[in-house]
Amino acid sequence: MRCFPAVDLANTLRHDGEGGVADELGTPATTVRWLRQWHELMPGGPTDVDGELHARLLGLRTAVRALFAHAVAPGPASRADPRPLMLQGEALAGLNAAATTGPVVAELDWPEEGTPTTRMRPTDTDPRMWPVAALACATIAFLGGPDRERLRACAAPRCVRYFVQGHGRQRWCKPSCGNRVRVARHHRRRQEPRTRPHGGES
Ligand SMILES: [Zn+2]
Repeated sequence: MRCFPAVDLANTLRHDGEGGVADELGTPATTVRWLRQWHELMPGGPTDVDGELHARLLGLRTAVRALFAHAVAPGPASRADPRPLMLQGEALAGLNAAATTGPVVAELDWPEEGTPTTRMRPTDTDPRMWPVAALACATIAFLGGPDRERLRACAAPRCVRYFVQGHGRQRWCKPSCGNRVRVARHHRRRQEPRTRPHGGES
C-alpha cells in the first residue's frame, strides 16, 4: 500500500472508540512519537518538539484538513473539524508558506548551450521547522497530483479518517470500519422483527 504523509497528518485526529476524537498530536511528547515514523522526510531531525514546532504542525494540519474537505466536496467531509472550517484561501496561504521553511529550495539551471537541470539550493531556515516544510511539500504534491481525486472521508459511523481509494467503490478507510458497519447492519436486521409489532401477539 502506498503511503501519503498528507493523509497521515490529517488522520492524526481519529475516532477514540467511544464516540469522541483522539489527537495523536495532542501534546509535544506524542507529536515526537508521531513524527519519528516520517524520519525519511526529516533531514537531521526531529530530536525534540518544542511549543513553536507543535503549534506550526497543528496549524498545518488545520489547513490540510480544510483543503481535504474541499477536495472531497460535494462528498461529505470528516466530522472531526470545528465548523466553520478554515477558509480555502487562508488554508492555501498557510500550506504554501509552510513549504518554504525547508532546508532546500528547487532551482532551474539552464546554460545557453545545454539542457536544463534542477538544482536544490540550501536555505538558511530554522532546522526545527524542516518537518513542517516536508509535510507541507508532501501535501502540495498530493493535492496537486492525480491521487487527490481518490481522496474520501470514511463513511463508517463515528470514523473521522480520510483515505485514498484503492478501488472505485471503497467506502471505508480500512477493513475494520467496513466490518463495524456490517456487524451493525446485521444486528439491526436481527432486532427489527422483534421490535416490529405482530398481529395476534401480546
Ligand atoms: Zn474508517
